[in-house]
Amino acid sequence: MRIYCSSMRGKGYNILDERYADIIIDIAHEKVDRPFQYRIPESLREQVAEGSCVRVPFGAGNRLRKGYVVAVKDTAEFDSSKIKEIDSVETGGVSVEGRQILLAAFLKRNYGSTMIQALKTVLPAKVSVRALERKSVRLAIGRDEAKEALLVLEKKHQTARARLLKELLSVDCLPYALVTGKLNVSSAAVKALAEQHIISVDTEKKLRNPIRIQADGAEKKCLSPAQQKAVDTVLSDFAAGIRKTYLLHGITGSGKTEVYMHLIEGVLKRGRQAIVLIPEIALTYQTLMRFYSRFGDRVSVMNSTLSAGEKYDQCERAKRGEIDIIIGPRSALFTPFPNIGLIVMDEEHENSYKSESSPKYHARETAEEVARMHGASVVLGSATPSLEASYRAERGAYTKLSLTERLTGGQLPAVHVVDLRKELKEGNRSIFSRKLQELLDDRLTKKQQSMLFINRRGYAGFVSCRACGHVMKCPHCSVSLSEHKGGRLICHYCGYEEPAVRSCPVCKSPYISGFRAGTQQIEEKLKELYPKARVLRMDADTTKQKESYEKILAAFAGGEADILIGTQMIVKGHDFPNVTLVGVLAADLSLSVGDYRAAERTFQLLVQAAGRAGRGVLSGEVVIQTYQPGNAAIVHAAAQDYKGFYEEEILYRELLRYPPVCNMMAVQIFAKEEKAGEELAKKLAELAESFQDTAQRADRRLLVIGPAPAAVGRVNDIFRFVFYVKYENYDTLVKVKDKIEERAASMQLKNEVLQIDFNPVNAF
Ligand code: ADP
Ligand code: ZN
Ligand code: ZN
Repeated sequence: MRIYCSSMRGKGYNILDERYADIIIDIAHEKVDRPFQYRIPESLREQVAEGSCVRVPFGAGNRLRKGYVVAVKDTAEFDSSKIKEIDSVETGGVSVEGRQILLAAFLKRNYGSTMIQALKTVLPAKVSVRALERKSVRLAIGRDEAKEALLVLEKKHQTARARLLKELLSVDCLPYALVTGKLNVSSAAVKALAEQHIISVDTEKKLRNPIRIQADGAEKKCLSPAQQKAVDTVLSDFAAGIRKTYLLHGITGSGKTEVYMHLIEGVLKRGRQAIVLIPEIALTYQTLMRFYSRFGDRVSVMNSTLSAGEKYDQCERAKRGEIDIIIGPRSALFTPFPNIGLIVMDEEHENSYKSESSPKYHARETAEEVARMHGASVVLGSATPSLEASYRAERGAYTKLSLTERLTGGQLPAVHVVDLRKELKEGNRSIFSRKLQELLDDRLTKKQQSMLFINRRGYAGFVSCRACGHVMKCPHCSVSLSEHKGGRLICHYCGYEEPAVRSCPVCKSPYISGFRAGTQQIEEKLKELYPKARVLRMDADTTKQKESYEKILAAFAGGEADILIGTQMIVKGHDFPNVTLVGVLAADLSLSVGDYRAAERTFQLLVQAAGRAGRGVLSGEVVIQTYQPGNAAIVHAAAQDYKGFYEEEILYRELLRYPPVCNMMAVQIFAKEEKAGEELAKKLAELAESFQDTAQRADRRLLVIGPAPAAVGRVNDIFRFVFYVKYENYDTLVKVKDKIEERAASMQLKNEVLQIDFNPVNAF
């Protein structure tokens, strides 16, 4: 029996079995960063939970306001006699805002973060209200005249302007943001064309009729039997009220995007909305245009080049029902649609679907939660599904759909695996094997394009002493410095820089030099070897500026170079029909990264890289250079054998209890003082250890690994420690996380910060 006695309420008392709720008031008008605490009256206790919508007295006048419960607690945070009581619980469906709050609560619970961080993740940044304005670009002259203008522009080598005109000749009208964004035409170029009265830029206000992009013969394709089967499976389930997650496994060019579009059409017809997640790097202009020309102005795009105001506008449009489809990277998942019917996640295996900042959510599971809240279906698509998705499909949790034929014609490329050890033994000390040189020569004479791919920027760009082995490191971050042009040494974490070294600081030997295998060095060596070849380089250094990524790709696609050198960026998503040779310079670089997903990532990268060759009518060849030609990831990638790779890799995961077979939580501790950080890490690891269930079989028990200094032990003079907790049951790990967070909160840490990461995609 509960005793209720108001006189006993007061500071410090907690003998009564009271419940309190942290509530965010009417988020449409107030700042969300401050929850208010209310008492939950006995009568409402059953109904109030995280995410409930309630009415509470607010402000001096105690006017009743709507609020959302973000946490339920059994202790008051301040004088409990001054805490007001919740008035009532709102019934009826959950509002759009309510769902966003629930979603934030889900992120906080499952991935670990503060509520504020979680709310900031799901809600668009508030911006001052201004009129929504939508600009569009269209031809101001007739088509024949435009064709003449196009010829003139091409003669003058005004490529960006020509590109715009060419597009307008086929679609009539383009959203301004698309022109200056993905089409990479500067606003100055648009203005110039407008001043010549070749095009006109209209705003929505002037334009009463909504923008409708007219597709130029892009009528719907007749689906192949495999595509039809995939579409029918999902849509007939949908009609029957069955909601599931489907894994659409299909090689690039097998028609996945076409399937997505048919599915979207299916749910749109039922008055529902669709979210299409595409990693930003794979979100090409061509892909966007396919969606625009099929669905017109009901589509919108969310990406990192949008300003906060534009993002906010998108969300407003979604809420008002002005758009039905949003395309974008993982954050597009939080578009506040009223009634989502379908969530598509293309390139489902991509690492960028995992958030790098708290809450470190994964878009796959979060999409499933959003779908659950709305009653929507989820379709995951990939040519090389993540082990997570395949494992679930194997076990029946997901429904598998496959597309096995390339619809564009073109054969799969021939793959050569070159053993670099043998090259060296036989006297070739260059970074290009004899096979690769032979094929590069051949392509240059035939005027076909090649792509050379190195797995990681600056990975091997370190400088070491050949006499004593000393490696040059950043004094703040304890990572190897990377050698840049002119011999300068740069830390890729904190930006610390040193001039070139002439002699070893330890033994004074002059034989200190870089291990030359970064993109820059490859470019230089390539220019020595082929002085006439036109070479473009794409890596994190050359793409620092906002549009340079698109520029380099556009230049390569336009035939402005013979060879494109780059990091992983160049193997994603883009179609270059004239590329007939792909060289992977050192497949081992990504194999040797110290985390359990190295083989999976290498396999995916190699398959994608190989997929770049021979996309057009010309057939392609691939050269994979490696010191480990027998490695499973390389062997199966060369054979394009996903199943073979999956079966071998999953055995390894099972044996070592790695995801997806097991779950793994990383707890990172950032500390100002090394000693204090280490002690805190130990204490928290022991706390995790106490969840040990000794009744379990020894090899099934919860396992704590570490703590240890993180691989990069120190960044900007902050010390980092990490420990891992492994267990099959996710919910148990969530409980461990809650206890750790609770303990950390009670310690009122000032010099240490915790970060939790469930099933991290990178090692720390
Ligand atoms: P993916 O998304 O799997 O890479 P796409 O949907 O982009 O595949 O299709 C690859 C190419 O094949 C595109 O050029 C597309 O227009 C074409 N295509 C797709 N489906 C069909 C079809 N049923 N008939 C003819 N061509 C198709
Ligand atoms: Zn030395
Ligand atoms: Zn540094």
